[in-house]
Amino acid sequence: MRSFVTRNFGSVVSAGEEKQIRGKSAMEDRKCPVFKRCGGCQLLDLPYEKQLEKKQKKTEALLKGYCRVNPIRGMEDPFRYRNKVHAVFGYRKGEAISGVYREGTHEIVPVETCLIENKKADEIIGTVRGLLKSFKIRTYDEDTGYGLLRHVLVRTARATGEIMVVLVTASPVFPSKNNFVKALRQVHPEITTVVQNINGRGTSMVLGERENILYGPGFIVDVLCGKRFRISSRSFYQVNPVQTEVLYETAIAAAGLTEAEIVIDAYCGIGTIGIAASDRAKEVIGVELNKDAVRDAVMNAKMNGIKNTRFYADDAGKFMVRMAAQGAKADVVFMDPPRSGSTEEFISAVARLAPKRVVYVSCNPETLARDLAVFKKKGYRAQEAWPVDMFPMTYHCEVVCSLDRVK
Ligand code: SAH
Repeated sequence: MRSFVTRNFGSVVSAGEEKQIRGKSAMEDRKCPVFKRCGGCQLLDLPYEKQLEKKQKKTEALLKGYCRVNPIRGMEDPFRYRNKVHAVFGYRKGEAISGVYREGTHEIVPVETCLIENKKADEIIGTVRGLLKSFKIRTYDEDTGYGLLRHVLVRTARATGEIMVVLVTASPVFPSKNNFVKALRQVHPEITTVVQNINGRGTSMVLGERENILYGPGFIVDVLCGKRFRISSRSFYQVNPVQTEVLYETAIAAAGLTEAEIVIDAYCGIGTIGIAASDRAKEVIGVELNKDAVRDAVMNAKMNGIKNTRFYADDAGKFMVRMAAQGAKADVVFMDPPRSGSTEEFISAVARLAPKRVVYVSCNPETLARDLAVFKKKGYRAQEAWPVDMFPMTYHCEVVCSLDRVK
């Protein structure tokens, strides 16, 4: 999963005020009470223009010797962009608290609101916290294993306004859950679905395998690049919807599609890139490891009336090896691996499938550079790169890179 659990938090700032401080550092005007302790917004004390410069330089340095790097595409308003908010719950002095783990520890830093998160999502988490006492719900204690509520995850769909609340509990037994959901929805009628996720394990994973839908359909629907997408609790979905459209349009333009191509969307998640590109391709084949995401992808194609896509639940590397062994061909490969990057197995199989172009969408330019070296050995040369700022205030940088087959 490519989500970032740590975040940074600040006092509430209106959109207008946030725009005014774009040129200055956010910290000059607003003090984030947990800056550095949270560890999420490493660049919060840098003016936004300087953040963009830094990411541009970093990408150029890493891709030096491979290809030209175009100017980074930044945000108009670089605040409150995150559509997904995660809070860990605990106790302090008899009171329920919620927030983030202090960097590198399991100590909870309490948080009210955050400069980069959806405001409504922050408010919903505050409401959940406020309801716990009257419902006699204990928060989970990692040391003793006692207590029920571990985490709350809120996902918001920017285009439709739909909101999903995921209550992560240590056990399936959730007394008066229906009344709890009712009370929560009374304060926030905009919540469209509530899911209980059960995570009884002592791991650092937020979500467990089992789920009960407590209210609504169990997923939310958002719109990206003119297509509708259903998102369930455990599927990957890009956290910055404004920049996701910029990212996908950049990637699809880089593919140079003419409606005649067989396209592979590897590491496809809920099928967003492939579905967004499907009008411009002959056929799209998506592959993704997470079964829930593949189910979402299949439903998404159906929901948009798209007939030229197929999705498979598999390891991308193994899937590509199998395709190559069967003598299959592809014209364009989109690949969007997690931060750890791709594998030699995957890249070798791509070379055997011999697409004329590969469009690599990377959320970690370090592993991108490493993988470009492997591609080079296999006869693929990087042509151009486009950094896109998906994560303002943080040091994370997204890059689209096109590669062409040279032999
Ligand atoms: N392209 C999608 C998802 C990108 S995130 C989007 O833009 O939303 C990377 C995805 O790779 C995740 O959905 C993750 O579940 C998936 N993944 C991770 N390892 C994988 C592997 N070995 N094989 C296939 N998919 C994998």
